[in-house]
Amino acid sequence: MNIDRKQLNSLGKIISIASATLLIFIATARGQTKEIAITIDDLPLNGKQFELARLKSMTDKLLASIKLEHLPVVGFVNESLLYVPGEADGRIALLRQWANAGVELGNHTFAHVGFKDTPLTQYEDDFVRGDTITRAIMKESGGKPRYFRHPFLQMGPTLELEQSFEKFIAERGYVKAPVTIDILDWMFRVAYANAVTQRDEAMMKKVAAEYLNFAGRKIDFTERVSNELFGRPVKQILLLHANELNADNLDQLIEAFKSKGYRFITLEEALKDDVYKFPDKYLPTSDWLGLWSFSKGKSFDAPKPPEFIQKIWDESQAVQIVKELTPEQDHRLMMDQLHITSLRPGANPNDPNAPNAVNYDEAKANPYPNLPDPLLLKNGKRVTSAKQWLTQRRAEVVEDFDREVYGRVPKNTPKVNWELISTSNEQNGDVPIVVKQLIGHVDNSSYPAITVNIRLTLTTPANATGPVPVIMEFGFVFPPGFRPPSPPPGTHTPAGPTWQQQLLAKGWGYAVLLPSSYQADNGAGLTKGIIGLSNKGQPRKPDDWGALRAWAWGASRALDYFETDKAVDAKRVGIEGLSRFGKAALVTMAYDERFAIGFIGSSGEGGAKLHRRAFGELVENLAGSGEYHWMAGNFIKYAGPLTPNNLPVDAHELIALCAPRPVFISSGSPKVEGQWVDARGMFMAAAAAGPVYRLLGRKDLGTTEFPPMETALIDGEVAFRQHSGGHTTGPNWPTFIIFASRYFETR
Ligand SMILES: [Zn+2]
Repeated sequence: MNIDRKQLNSLGKIISIASATLLIFIATARGQTKEIAITIDDLPLNGKQFELARLKSMTDKLLASIKLEHLPVVGFVNESLLYVPGEADGRIALLRQWANAGVELGNHTFAHVGFKDTPLTQYEDDFVRGDTITRAIMKESGGKPRYFRHPFLQMGPTLELEQSFEKFIAERGYVKAPVTIDILDWMFRVAYANAVTQRDEAMMKKVAAEYLNFAGRKIDFTERVSNELFGRPVKQILLLHANELNADNLDQLIEAFKSKGYRFITLEEALKDDVYKFPDKYLPTSDWLGLWSFSKGKSFDAPKPPEFIQKIWDESQAVQIVKELTPEQDHRLMMDQLHITSLRPGANPNDPNAPNAVNYDEAKANPYPNLPDPLLLKNGKRVTSAKQWLTQRRAEVVEDFDREVYGRVPKNTPKVNWELISTSNEQNGDVPIVVKQLIGHVDNSSYPAITVNIRLTLTTPANATGPVPVIMEFGFVFPPGFRPPSPPPGTHTPAGPTWQQQLLAKGWGYAVLLPSSYQADNGAGLTKGIIGLSNKGQPRKPDDWGALRAWAWGASRALDYFETDKAVDAKRVGIEGLSRFGKAALVTMAYDERFAIGFIGSSGEGGAKLHRRAFGELVENLAGSGEYHWMAGNFIKYAGPLTPNNLPVDAHELIALCAPRPVFISSGSPKVEGQWVDARGMFMAAAAAGPVYRLLGRKDLGTTEFPPMETALIDGEVAFRQHSGGHTTGPNWPTFIIFASRYFETR
């Protein structure tokens, strides 16, 4: 078709007149038709997190209202909220429940980060991370996520950054979802949650009434502004959040919209309104009512929430100022406190030609052969009686470990209230069992910004005729879908009963404690968890406790619970752990004399291995920013300017603190496990704990000669065995159980 420029111009005019007419026609035909799309942010839970059962009930309520009204809803997910230790599967199931109720799921970033303070690439990364589980769930019903909502409604700090980001998400099939009505449910939510916690029903009613009243005023306001700006009602987009306030009041809220003549439409439908293409000036916010007003040079006074709601919100924000530090920043801060400017590097296991390459040569492994004498008092006198050890020397050793190695537990650690979440009758193999899910709620009234919950599972044989011995394991938590690496080929994996089944066969029970539920396994977590709560969100002092001591504290609180549970013989409770949790198990055993026995798996440096050894992992590795959080800040000093030889205590004295109680030091084969954990260094410490055991009238390891593989040294109270497998306690369980039987069955 040949059209000249003049023709084109007049054609353009006709089209624009036609479309203008069409617009007027539509507006008139619809009269006062008011339409609104509902979006719900922060799935699965907006605000302070609470436990799964309560979250499920909240979700059920929200979805019941949504289904009842057949509401088209888009829900925006923060996938980081799914990764709650012990709850990940349950939380993912809840997300699937949203999808199954017909709610379309969108992306709200992984960790709910604000674009304003986040570099573009990092923000994009967080967007990509937030796409995984949501996409998988959407795929189950043949869909895929297509909407993105900016956290805090914060768009990019500049138009250029926002456009780059929009292009980035467009390439991944996403458009961003604006908001036109924000009824501040996220603010009212705080006052409501407080009232729920205090079981203050009058206050719950009052907050709900104020919320609905405010929502009504905000709807009217939004309508008036849209009319003034565009001369017609626009297709609105409502912002809500997945919280209990809405779970309890969504029906009434929907009623309020209906009574004002609203019809509920999909987000897709709402975005067809040309108003969302309105050429706005740039403001870094997804609040489009504000954007439109700003672009048209107008301003309106939005309704304000009641003062008491605002005040409760402000207070909740004031206590939210928890220091957010990276491990590197926190590590640096600790070095500053210690007046240290540099540290010696740790052993490098990856490059044999590096100047700090790891040493696996026994000839070079003992630069500091003289260990501190566990039986020498600070005043230079020798400990000659069990009483002297128990009343004088033991406390000196504890003080050194407290101050220099693992850190001190604060004097007034908060109380823990154990809640029995569920009791179920199950089978393990052919043994009927009773499984109890427990949560230890840590009292955070001193600093409500930090919530700490200890997760614990207790399993006992259902047919037990009385209280049974229990071995508690520090459990690893893997993200959903993650499988621990399979053992290398050629590894002997014994078929047969699991460790749990071996314990049940003895008539004993088992428990799994999740240490990361109350103290994160990284330096950034030191201002959170039980350590952060005790410090009111501030960084540690040099002798404050590290994660190992905190994990051990949690094990003691679990034992407090066992003392109240008639199924458990609390005088016969053991602690077991592997690797970092092997270290934690030894610290638990050393500090809490109520634990009857310890099974310490491949604990290495920071655990049963001598700090004075130069073999495998070193003090310098532990002092670096990747591991220092396990230890007291003071420990860093021994990686510069001090040396491991300056430590006032060593690992043999940690083992000695377990005396006279039995402790089993376990390791794998150097051929399979590698030598990083230094089996011989652990054996040497076990042997050097002997004098204390003997002083207390018990038997030591029985030899100072490193035994061949799979030789069980279990005749004394200090036991040692190297199994032929890898980094696991697995193959040593049968031997440990024989060892433990000696104590648990002869009473
Ligand atoms: Zn949000």
